[in-house]
Amino acid sequence: MPDVFLASRNAKKLEEMERILAPLVTGVRVLGLDDVAAYAEPVEDQPDFAGNALLKARAGVAATGLPSLADDSGICVDALNGMPGVLSARWSGPPLGAASGQDQRNNELLLAQMSDVPDERRSAHFTCAVAFCHPGGSNGVVERVVHGRMDGRILREVRGTGGFGYDVLFAADGHDVTTAELSREEKDAISHRGKALREIAPHVVAVLCGS
Ligand code: IMP
Repeated sequence: MPDVFLASRNAKKLEEMERILAPLVTGVRVLGLDDVAAYAEPVEDQPDFAGNALLKARAGVAATGLPSLADDSGICVDALNGMPGVLSARWSGPPLGAASGQDQRNNELLLAQMSDVPDERRSAHFTCAVAFCHPGGSNGVVERVVHGRMDGRILREVRGTGGFGYDVLFAADGHDVTTAELSREEKDAISHRGKALREIAPHVVAVLCGS
């Protein structure tokens, strides 16, 4: 069975990616960072999601020799001129390690920044760039990037226990509940990550399985 390597450190994000991909890439084994030898992961210093996703996927190919997928994602708030954007993970400061309460601090900061913003100006969207890189082609590595987007708004208090990150503050268009209150299947059906992975999956299958 051919392998694809999923280069992500974020356990919650990885869980979502694995469950969205699993039915789309049957016949392909999905490996994570724990399944390969440790390597120096790149610093995510690019100005856009695609650049950071490519950095991670390229590093995955270089370290493992395997076709590699990576996502970079975040929330873009209109009233904050599109921020936190690529800084979403570290909006309240540098990550302090697993279980550090980073998501809660990020959400508290975002709520404070949005406290005076009226309902009609609380629009926001999640974006996800997924990069797929694999050995081949004249440059030695073939690269492809796709994007997914989910539009909605920032609420005034946290709600729900599912998902991760800013899900507790975000209600997607057409929904009165946050994405942390949706079932996994409901979130995957409308999410930025679901859209991007459903677009890239046929290419992964074509490259790995030749169909
Ligand atoms: P990355 O690992 O640099 O891509 O960080 C993405 C960050 O954006 C996460 O730490 C979350 O804070 C946020 N984020 C991305 N996707 C989602 C999502 O689906 N729900 C909630 N927050 C998300």
